[in-house]
Amino acid sequence: IVRFENVQKSYDGESLVVKNLNLNVERGEFLTMLGPSGSGKTTCLMMLAGFEPATHGEIFLNEQPINNVPPHKRGIGMVFQNYALFPHMTVAENLAFPLEVRKLPKADVEAKVKRALEMVQLPEFGGRRPAQLSGGQQQRVAVARALVFEPDLVLMDEPLGALDKNLREEMQYEIKHIHDNLGVSVVYVTHDQSEALTMSNRVAVFDDGVIQQLAAPDVLYEEPVNAFVAYFIGENN
Ligand code: ATP
Repeated sequence: IVRFENVQKSYDGESLVVKNLNLNVERGEFLTMLGPSGSGKTTCLMMLAGFEPATHGEIFLNEQPINNVPPHKRGIGMVFQNYALFPHMTVAENLAFPLEVRKLPKADVEAKVKRALEMVQLPEFGGRRPAQLSGGQQQRVAVARALVFEPDLVLMDEPLGALDKNLREEMQYEIKHIHDNLGVSVVYVTHDQSEALTMSNRVAVFDDGVIQQLAAPDVLYEEPVNAFVAYFIGENN
């Protein structure tokens, strides 16, 4: 569903933070970009979302080149660490917003909002404002909002980073469950090894703007290609 072809990124015109990236994300796949802070993961997601231009190379979505397609026309759902819900709107209004922008009929909007709230197990919370929800509940609403317009592809950048350990594990399970049920493709960014290994079909291990290894979690464990991958995967486990 996604292809990065020889993609490079420099912010200052000199140093490359993403170096000649080639990567295919398969349809329906849960692919995680894992790596230390500053290794270029978020930059890759920003280029895919359309918020940062690639300095060199091309990104394809459904086989179409998208370098010149603005973010709102890419049809990609997004979830970030700071949920960015609209504070003055209710939960239901927050979820309806991406559908109203797409000019869906009112009855469809209501049905889809209801379904999205059920999916994240908050069916009773449509009338509340974000400030009246816990951090975990707000993050569920953010997940629901990314899915409500039924995109083929959802990007998630450290979506659970602000949550405590127990809630994070619960949400990992829920996001994985939603992924399995909907068959949506997910590109997920984290620096948390266990999160990446638990949730993903494949993990791309980043260091210094380069994918060091791209493999299924068990392969990364059993056959790390170099010392960096072995060390990074081994940490915290
Ligand atoms: P983190 O987990 O800390 O977000 P990351 O792996 O996602 O790290 P990036 O955020 O992609 O890494 O950053 C890669 C490099 O690019 C870093 O050196 C960072 O300082 C730099 N960088 C990121 N965004 C910008 C920007 N908007 N302007 C200039 N430099 C940037």
